Amino acid sequence: MLQGKKALIIGIMSDRSIAYGVAQSMHTHGAELGLSFLPRFTERVDKLSKPWSPWLQHPCDVSSDADIAALADAVHEEVGSIDTIVHSIAFAPRDHLEGGFLDNLTRDGFATAHDISAFSLAAITKAFLPHLNPGGSICTLTYLGSQRAVPNYNVMGLAKASLESAVRYLAIDCGKKDIRVNAVSAGPIRTPSAAGIKDMRSMQTSVAQASAIKAPVTIEQVGNVCAFLCSPLASAVTGEIVYVDNGFHMVAGSH
Ligand code: NAD
Repeated sequence: MLQGKKALIIGIMSDRSIAYGVAQSMHTHGAELGLSFLPRFTERVDKLSKPWSPWLQHPCDVSSDADIAALADAVHEEVGSIDTIVHSIAFAPRDHLEGGFLDNLTRDGFATAHDISAFSLAAITKAFLPHLNPGGSICTLTYLGSQRAVPNYNVMGLAKASLESAVRYLAIDCGKKDIRVNAVSAGPIRTPSAAGIKDMRSMQTSVAQASAIKAPVTIEQVGNVCAFLCSPLASAVTGEIVYVDNGFHMVAGSH
Protein backbone atom coordinates (compact mmCIF):
# COMPACT_ATOMS: atom_id res chain seq x y z
CA MET A 1 0.00 0.00 0.00
CA LEU A 2 2.84 2.41 0.83
CA GLN A 3 5.76 0.89 -1.06
CA GLY A 4 8.43 3.52 -1.72
CA LYS A 5 6.58 6.23 0.24
CA LYS A 6 8.44 8.33 2.78
CA ALA A 7 6.45 8.97 5.95
CA LEU A 8 7.22 11.21 8.91
CA ILE A 9 5.53 10.07 12.11
CA ILE A 10 5.40 12.64 14.89
CA GLY A 11 4.49 11.64 18.46
CA ILE A 12 6.06 8.33 19.47
CA MET A 13 6.93 8.02 23.13
CA SER A 14 6.47 4.30 23.86
CA ASP A 15 5.41 1.03 22.27
CA ARG A 16 1.92 1.75 23.65
CA SER A 17 1.63 5.03 21.71
CA ILE A 18 -0.82 5.19 18.82
CA ALA A 19 2.12 6.55 16.77
CA TYR A 20 3.89 3.23 17.40
CA GLY A 21 0.90 1.32 15.98
CA VAL A 22 0.91 3.66 12.97
CA ALA A 23 4.66 3.18 12.44
CA GLN A 24 4.33 -0.61 12.64
CA SER A 25 1.49 -0.69 10.12
CA MET A 26 3.13 1.76 7.71
CA HIS A 27 6.39 -0.17 7.90
CA THR A 28 4.54 -3.43 7.20
CA HIS A 29 2.93 -1.83 4.16
CA GLY A 30 6.28 -0.72 2.74
CA ALA A 31 6.71 2.88 3.92
CA GLU A 32 10.13 4.22 4.83
CA LEU A 33 9.84 5.93 8.20
CA GLY A 34 11.19 9.13 9.70
CA LEU A 35 10.37 9.78 13.35
CA SER A 36 9.96 12.82 15.54
CA PHE A 37 9.37 12.93 19.30
CA LEU A 38 9.87 15.13 22.35
CA PRO A 39 13.61 15.60 23.04
CA ARG A 40 13.45 13.70 26.36
CA PHE A 41 12.37 10.51 24.57
CA THR A 42 15.32 10.41 22.14
CA GLU A 43 17.04 7.40 23.71
CA ARG A 44 13.82 5.44 24.15
CA VAL A 45 12.69 6.00 20.54
CA ASP A 46 16.16 5.09 19.33
CA LYS A 47 15.71 1.62 20.89
CA LEU A 48 12.08 1.18 19.78
CA SER A 49 12.73 2.12 16.17
CA LYS A 50 15.67 -0.21 15.44
CA PRO A 51 13.56 -2.73 13.42
CA TRP A 52 12.35 0.04 11.10
CA SER A 53 15.80 1.51 10.26
CA PRO A 54 14.34 5.05 10.08
CA TRP A 55 15.79 7.57 7.62
CA LEU A 56 15.50 10.27 10.29
CA GLN A 57 15.09 10.52 14.05
CA HIS A 58 14.72 14.13 15.06
CA PRO A 59 13.43 15.60 18.33
CA CYS A 60 10.89 18.41 18.15
CA ASP A 61 8.87 20.21 20.78
CA VAL A 62 5.90 21.57 18.81
CA SER A 63 5.46 24.46 21.26
CA SER A 64 8.58 25.94 19.62
CA ASP A 65 8.44 27.52 16.13
CA ALA A 66 12.23 27.08 15.91
CA ASP A 67 11.92 23.33 16.60
CA ILE A 68 9.25 22.91 13.90
CA ALA A 69 11.37 24.83 11.37
CA ALA A 70 14.46 22.78 12.32
CA LEU A 71 12.48 19.53 11.83
CA ALA A 72 11.32 20.63 8.37
CA ASP A 73 14.92 21.61 7.46
CA ALA A 74 16.28 18.30 8.74
CA VAL A 75 13.74 16.33 6.67
CA HIS A 76 14.45 18.43 3.58
CA GLU A 77 18.22 17.99 3.96
CA GLU A 78 17.91 14.25 4.54
CA VAL A 79 15.47 13.21 1.80
CA GLY A 80 14.29 16.33 -0.08
CA SER A 81 10.55 15.77 -0.07
CA ILE A 82 8.23 13.26 1.58
CA ASP A 83 4.78 11.73 0.98
CA THR A 84 3.12 11.50 4.36
CA ILE A 85 2.97 13.10 7.79
CA VAL A 86 1.19 11.56 10.76
CA HIS A 87 0.54 14.00 13.63
CA SER A 88 -0.10 12.01 16.81
CA ILE A 89 0.32 14.63 19.51
CA ALA A 90 -1.85 16.05 22.28
CA PHE A 91 -1.33 17.63 25.65
CA ALA A 92 -3.35 19.36 28.38
CA PRO A 93 -2.32 19.98 32.00
CA ARG A 94 -3.29 16.92 34.02
CA ASP A 95 -5.57 18.80 36.45
CA HIS A 96 -7.66 19.91 33.43
CA LEU A 97 -8.48 16.25 32.69
CA GLU A 98 -10.38 15.54 35.91
CA GLY A 99 -13.61 16.81 37.41
CA GLY A 100 -15.95 19.29 35.73
CA PHE A 101 -14.91 21.41 32.74
CA LEU A 102 -14.76 24.59 34.83
CA ASP A 103 -13.23 23.08 38.01
CA ASN A 104 -9.52 23.58 37.18
CA LEU A 105 -9.84 25.60 33.97
CA THR A 106 -7.27 28.38 33.50
CA ARG A 107 -6.41 30.67 30.59
CA ASP A 108 -2.94 29.06 30.45
CA GLY A 109 -4.29 25.50 30.49
CA PHE A 110 -6.78 26.32 27.74
CA ALA A 111 -4.05 27.95 25.61
CA THR A 112 -1.58 25.08 26.13
CA ALA A 113 -4.13 22.41 25.19
CA HIS A 114 -5.03 24.25 21.98
CA ASP A 115 -1.42 25.15 21.14
CA ILE A 116 0.02 21.63 21.44
CA SER A 117 -3.02 19.63 20.32
CA ALA A 118 -4.52 21.76 17.50
CA PHE A 119 -2.32 24.67 16.40
CA SER A 120 0.63 22.27 15.99
CA LEU A 121 -1.14 20.47 13.11
CA ALA A 122 -1.52 23.75 11.21
CA ALA A 123 2.05 24.84 12.06
CA ILE A 124 3.52 21.53 10.91
CA THR A 125 1.44 21.54 7.71
CA LYS A 126 2.59 25.10 6.95
CA ALA A 127 6.25 24.23 7.53
CA PHE A 128 6.13 21.02 5.48
CA LEU A 129 3.87 21.97 2.57
CA PRO A 130 6.82 22.95 0.33
CA HIS A 131 8.40 19.53 1.06
CA LEU A 132 5.35 17.32 0.42
CA ASN A 133 4.98 15.44 -2.87
CA PRO A 134 1.75 15.75 -4.90
CA GLY A 135 -0.48 12.79 -4.02
CA GLY A 136 0.77 13.09 -0.44
CA SER A 137 -1.29 12.90 2.72
CA ILE A 138 -1.42 14.22 6.29
CA CYS A 139 -3.25 12.35 9.04
CA THR A 140 -3.93 13.38 12.62
CA LEU A 141 -5.54 11.68 15.64
CA THR A 142 -8.70 12.91 17.28
CA TYR A 143 -11.35 11.74 19.74
CA LEU A 144 -15.16 11.78 20.08
CA GLY A 145 -14.80 14.25 23.00
CA SER A 146 -14.72 16.92 20.25
CA GLN A 147 -18.42 16.21 19.46
CA ARG A 148 -19.80 15.07 22.80
CA ALA A 149 -19.21 16.14 26.41
CA VAL A 150 -17.17 13.18 27.67
CA PRO A 151 -16.55 13.07 31.46
CA ASN A 152 -13.07 14.38 32.43
CA TYR A 153 -12.00 15.08 28.81
CA ASN A 154 -12.94 18.75 29.31
CA VAL A 155 -10.62 21.25 27.58
CA MET A 156 -9.17 18.52 25.34
CA GLY A 157 -12.64 18.19 23.78
CA LEU A 158 -12.47 21.83 22.72
CA ALA A 159 -8.93 21.38 21.40
CA LYS A 160 -10.01 18.33 19.38
CA ALA A 161 -12.97 20.28 17.95
CA SER A 162 -10.47 22.90 16.81
CA LEU A 163 -8.20 20.18 15.40
CA GLU A 164 -11.06 18.63 13.41
CA SER A 165 -12.03 22.00 12.01
CA ALA A 166 -8.38 22.59 11.09
CA VAL A 167 -8.45 19.30 9.16
CA ARG A 168 -11.21 20.70 6.92
CA TYR A 169 -9.56 24.10 6.34
CA LEU A 170 -6.17 22.48 5.73
CA ALA A 171 -7.76 20.05 3.28
CA ILE A 172 -8.85 23.04 1.18
CA ASP A 173 -5.41 24.71 1.24
CA CYS A 174 -3.51 21.46 0.65
CA GLY A 175 -5.97 20.14 -1.94
CA LYS A 176 -4.67 22.77 -4.36
CA LYS A 177 -1.35 20.90 -4.23
CA ASP A 178 -2.98 17.45 -4.47
CA ILE A 179 -2.29 16.76 -0.81
CA ARG A 180 -4.98 15.30 1.45
CA VAL A 181 -5.64 15.95 5.15
CA ASN A 182 -7.70 13.61 7.34
CA ALA A 183 -8.17 12.57 10.95
CA VAL A 184 -8.75 9.22 12.59
CA SER A 185 -11.04 9.41 15.61
CA ALA A 186 -9.91 6.53 17.81
CA GLY A 187 -11.86 4.86 20.60
CA PRO A 188 -10.28 4.99 24.07
CA ILE A 189 -6.93 3.16 24.34
CA ARG A 190 -4.71 3.03 27.45
CA THR A 191 -1.69 4.88 26.04
CA PRO A 192 0.74 7.01 28.13
CA SER A 193 -1.27 10.24 27.51
CA ALA A 194 -4.63 8.57 28.10
CA ALA A 195 -3.40 7.37 31.50
CA GLY A 196 -3.59 11.05 32.54
CA ILE A 197 -7.35 11.15 31.99
CA LYS A 198 -9.23 10.34 35.18
CA ASP A 199 -11.22 7.06 35.19
CA MET A 200 -9.79 6.07 31.78
CA ARG A 201 -9.78 2.35 32.64
CA SER A 202 -13.48 2.15 33.54
CA MET A 203 -14.40 4.34 30.57
CA GLN A 204 -12.58 1.98 28.20
CA THR A 205 -14.53 -0.97 29.59
CA SER A 206 -17.92 0.75 29.43
CA VAL A 207 -17.28 2.04 25.89
CA ALA A 208 -16.35 -1.47 24.73
CA GLN A 209 -19.58 -2.85 26.24
CA ALA A 210 -21.71 -0.19 24.53
CA SER A 211 -20.02 -0.46 21.10
CA ALA A 212 -21.39 -2.34 18.09
CA ILE A 213 -18.32 -4.59 18.17
CA LYS A 214 -17.93 -5.32 21.88
CA ALA A 215 -14.17 -4.95 22.27
CA PRO A 216 -11.61 -2.28 23.02
CA VAL A 217 -9.79 -0.69 20.08
CA THR A 218 -6.05 -1.37 19.63
CA ILE A 219 -3.19 0.80 18.39
CA GLU A 220 -2.74 -1.71 15.55
CA GLN A 221 -6.32 -1.16 14.32
CA VAL A 222 -5.87 2.62 14.47
CA GLY A 223 -2.48 2.34 12.75
CA ASN A 224 -3.94 0.31 9.89
CA VAL A 225 -6.59 2.96 9.14
CA CYS A 226 -3.97 5.75 9.24
CA ALA A 227 -1.86 3.71 6.81
CA PHE A 228 -4.88 3.28 4.50
CA LEU A 229 -5.74 7.01 4.63
CA CYS A 230 -2.14 7.92 3.77
CA SER A 231 -2.03 5.44 0.87
CA PRO A 232 -3.11 5.90 -2.75
CA LEU A 233 -6.11 3.64 -1.95
CA ALA A 234 -7.66 6.70 -0.24
CA SER A 235 -6.75 9.15 -3.02
CA ALA A 236 -10.23 10.77 -3.05
CA VAL A 237 -10.64 11.02 0.75
CA THR A 238 -9.84 14.38 2.30
CA GLY A 239 -11.16 16.65 5.05
CA GLU A 240 -12.64 13.53 6.67
CA ILE A 241 -12.91 12.34 10.26
CA VAL A 242 -12.84 8.52 10.19
CA TYR A 243 -14.01 6.73 13.34
CA VAL A 244 -12.01 3.70 14.45
CA ASP A 245 -14.01 2.92 17.58
CA ASN A 246 -15.87 -0.35 16.94
CA GLY A 247 -18.93 1.74 16.08
CA PHE A 248 -19.33 3.41 19.49
CA HIS A 249 -19.93 6.89 18.03
CA MET A 250 -23.08 5.85 16.13
CA VAL A 251 -24.79 3.86 18.87
CA ALA A 252 -27.70 5.24 20.90
CA GLY A 253 -29.26 3.47 23.87
CA SER A 254 -28.26 0.08 25.23
CA HIS A 255 -28.22 -2.92 22.87
P1 NAD B 1 0.94 9.17 23.69
O1 NAD B 1 1.24 9.76 25.02
O2 NAD B 1 1.63 7.92 23.37
O3 NAD B 1 1.21 10.22 22.53
C1 NAD B 1 1.10 11.61 22.72
C2 NAD B 1 2.37 12.19 22.19
O4 NAD B 1 2.32 13.63 22.22
C3 NAD B 1 3.59 11.78 23.03
O5 NAD B 1 4.55 11.17 22.20
C4 NAD B 1 4.11 13.09 23.56
O6 NAD B 1 5.52 13.10 23.67
C5 NAD B 1 3.64 14.02 22.45
N1 NAD B 1 3.71 15.43 22.85
C6 NAD B 1 3.11 16.04 23.91
N2 NAD B 1 3.49 17.34 23.96
C7 NAD B 1 4.32 17.54 22.90
C8 NAD B 1 5.06 18.65 22.42
N3 NAD B 1 5.01 19.85 23.04
N4 NAD B 1 5.83 18.52 21.31
C9 NAD B 1 5.91 17.30 20.68
N5 NAD B 1 5.25 16.21 21.10
C10 NAD B 1 4.47 16.33 22.19
O7 NAD B 1 -0.66 8.99 23.66
P2 NAD B 1 -1.61 8.59 22.44
O8 NAD B 1 -2.89 8.21 23.09
O9 NAD B 1 -0.92 7.67 21.54
O10 NAD B 1 -1.87 9.99 21.74
C11 NAD B 1 -1.62 10.21 20.37
C12 NAD B 1 -2.78 10.97 19.75
O11 NAD B 1 -3.92 10.13 19.73
C13 NAD B 1 -3.18 12.21 20.53
O12 NAD B 1 -3.56 13.23 19.62
C14 NAD B 1 -4.41 11.74 21.30
O13 NAD B 1 -5.28 12.78 21.66
C15 NAD B 1 -5.03 10.85 20.24
N6 NAD B 1 -6.06 9.93 20.72
C16 NAD B 1 -5.82 9.09 21.74
C17 NAD B 1 -6.82 8.25 22.18
C18 NAD B 1 -6.60 7.31 23.34
O14 NAD B 1 -7.57 6.83 23.92
N7 NAD B 1 -5.36 7.01 23.69
C19 NAD B 1 -8.09 8.27 21.58
C20 NAD B 1 -8.29 9.15 20.52
C21 NAD B 1 -7.28 9.98 20.09
